[in-house]
Amino acid sequence: MARKKMERWGPHSHCIVCGAAIPEGEKFCSSTCKAKYEEEEARYKRSQRNLLVMMLLMLAFIATVVFLPYLTRGP
Ligand SMILES: [Zn+2]
Repeated sequence: MARKKMERWGPHSHCIVCGAAIPEGEKFCSSTCKAKYEEEEARYKRSQRNLLVMMLLMLAFIATVVFLPYLTRGP
């Protein structure tokens, strides 16, 4: 009985979605994973933008609250 040596993996990457081994330089194992990743990325970008908008609104609000007394007081 011949012992079969475990074949070493050559240089390879892993699918960044499901972790499956894929040829080096590739990012996804299938178009399904690619679509999933792009959807996830779009959602992340949307949430980042929402966060930025909320922070800007908050800053505008704080600026208004802080500077309004100075503006309305007058000389
Ligand atoms: Zn995958």
